[in-house]
Amino acid sequence: MLTTRPRGINDILPGDVEGWQALEAHIRHLFSLYHYEEIRTPIFEHTELFLRSVGETSDIVEKEMYSFEDKGLRHITLRPEGTAGVVRAYIENKLFAGPAPQKLYYIGPMFRYDQPQAGRYRQFHQFGCEVLGSDAPVVDAEVITFAVDLFSRLGLQDLKVSLNTVGCPDCRPAYEKALVDYFAGHEEDLCDTCKDRLHRNPLRILDCKEEGCKALAAQAPTTLDYACDHCKDHFAAVRGYLDEVGIAYELDSTLVRGLDYYTQTAFEVIMTQKSGAQNAICGGGRYNKLVYNCGGQDTPGVGFAAGMERLLLILESQGLAIGQRRTPAVYLAPMDAEASKMAFALAKALRAKDIAVEMDSMGKSLKAQMKNADRLQVAYTVLIGENERLGGFATVRQMATGEQTEIDLDKLVTYLEKGIKHVATKKNT
Ligand code: AMP
Repeated sequence: MLTTRPRGINDILPGDVEGWQALEAHIRHLFSLYHYEEIRTPIFEHTELFLRSVGETSDIVEKEMYSFEDKGLRHITLRPEGTAGVVRAYIENKLFAGPAPQKLYYIGPMFRYDQPQAGRYRQFHQFGCEVLGSDAPVVDAEVITFAVDLFSRLGLQDLKVSLNTVGCPDCRPAYEKALVDYFAGHEEDLCDTCKDRLHRNPLRILDCKEEGCKALAAQAPTTLDYACDHCKDHFAAVRGYLDEVGIAYELDSTLVRGLDYYTQTAFEVIMTQKSGAQNAICGGGRYNKLVYNCGGQDTPGVGFAAGMERLLLILESQGLAIGQRRTPAVYLAPMDAEASKMAFALAKALRAKDIAVEMDSMGKSLKAQMKNADRLQVAYTVLIGENERLGGFATVRQMATGEQTEIDLDKLVTYLEKGIKHVATKKNT
C-alpha cells in the first residue's frame, strides 16, 4: 500500500511530463489568441455547489464524487468538473461587475470515482472555458470553433462535432412530457437505471449506453420537435456561424450530455477513429440558468471541457506526440573534490548566461562521466582533472566531433557561450 498509488490515478513522470507542458503551452497560446483569461479555482468546494450545479440526478453526483467531512464538519467535495467552481468564483468575486462577457479558461485536475480504464481515471485533467454574461449565438459558435481549432492545430484528424439543442425552461417541460409518454410506452425495454430515471430525469435516458435504451432513444421525440421559437432561432444562428467558418458538425438529437445544467446548445467533439481510449475528447454547451441556480443574478453562460489524458493518448496513437525531453548543453566532469568546487562555480557562471548545465555529483570515474554526458546528449563536456586544475584551464570536448581543446578557465564561459549559440543556430538552419 505504502508504495502503490490508489486505483485510477497516475504519476506524470519525466519523459511524459514534456508532452503535458507542450499541450498546456499550446492551450494557453490559443486561449490568448481568442482573448480568454486564466482563472484558477480551488481543488475542493462545498458539496452543495455540485449538487446545485451538476445536478442531483447526474451520474457524477449520484455515483462519482469524492466527498468528505472536514474537521470543521463541513461537507466538502473534490471538484469533479470545472464549471461549477468558475461560476461560484464569478459570483463571489463579483466578476459580473467587470466587462461583459467574462471569458475565462482553466487547466487542472478533476476527480471522479469512475471505473478506471484507458482514458478514464479517477484523477484526470481538463482544460476548458466559460463565457459568462452573453447569450449571443456567436459565443456558442466561438467556443465550438476554439475547440476544433485547438485540436486541428495539433494535427488531429477524424474529428466529429456532434451538435444538439436541449431547449430551455420554457420548452423543456413539454419535451420532457413527450419523452416520458414515449418511454413509458416502452418501459419494459428500459434498463433498471432508466426505469428509475423515467420520472426523475427522462432526458438522461437519451444518454444511456445500454443497447436496449439506445435503440429506444434513437426513435424518441427530439428536442428540436419541441423547441420554442427562441431556442430554434438561437440554434439556427449558432449553426449559421459555424457554417460561415466551415466547421462541420452532425446533428445528434440524443446528445444531452451527462450534466444537468445545459440549456440550448450542447456539443461534443469525438474521435471517429478508434484509439484504444475513450473517444469523446471534449464536451460543452450553454447553461443559461446555472449562475442563477448557484445563487447569482440571472446570467447566461456557455463553455466546454476537454480531457487532457485522452487528448495526449490520441495524439500518441496518431503519431502526433508533442513535447521533447530537455537536455543540458554542457556537462561538467570534475575529477576530484577540488575540481568539483571549481565546476560548481563554473556551473553557476554558465547558468547565469542561461546555459543549461549538469555536473557530476557522485565522484564518478572519467569513463562513467563520459557515458553520462553521452546519454544526456550535451553539446560540450568540460573535463577538470588535476592537470587542468593546476594549469588553470579545462579540457573541452565537443561531443558531435570528439574534438578536444584546452581553454583557459577565465575564457571558458565566453568560449562555451559562443559555441552553444553556434550549435543552436546550426540546429535551426
Ligand atoms: P465531462 O466533464 O464529463 O463533459 O467530460 C469532458 C471531457 O473530460 C471528456 O470528453 C473526457 O475527455 C474528459 N473526461 C471526463 N471524465 C474523465 C475521466 N474519468 N478520465 C479521463 N478523462 C475524463
